[in-house]
Amino acid sequence: MDQYVTCPYNSNHRPLKFRLQCHLAKCPDRDEINFETCPFNATHIYRKGQKESHFENCESRGDLERNVYQVGNSSTRNNEVLARSMPPPRINNENEESWDDYDAPTYHPQQYAMNANVLRNAPPAPPAERRRFAENERRRLSGIQRRQN
Ligand SMILES: [Zn+2]
Ligand SMILES: [Zn+2]
Repeated sequence: MDQYVTCPYNSNHRPLKFRLQCHLAKCPDRDEINFETCPFNATHIYRKGQKESHFENCESRGDLERNVYQVGNSSTRNNEVLARSMPPPRINNENEESWDDYDAPTYHPQQYAMNANVLRNAPPAPPAERRRFAENERRRLSGIQRRQN
């Protein structure tokens, strides 16, 4: 079913939903002085000064943030969160605790994102998990060698 929406510039305009973006670009009542376009969705128009209240309800914003979270930057973001939530390293124990180990976890960024909520409160890749990963790698490599022989 075709869905009509109301033009934010003039409520007498009732473009079809899928044409709204097109209509907004050409709308004779287009008003860039008093209105702003949502940075997350070009069909979201709100009055200047209502940015915050729009963002609270903007579903595109949530979509975008979820995508960003899953697609790439998750490890960076997690590290940022970790950096903020972790106590500063104790200078006395500098040589005992290798904080470098917790930096830049280059493997399994996907898994990372999935466990994000847990990992926020725990160091990424606990020793047991690193052992398991190393073991899997060993098994995988020896499998490759066997096939080659
Ligand atoms: Zn219009
Ligand atoms: Zn929006």
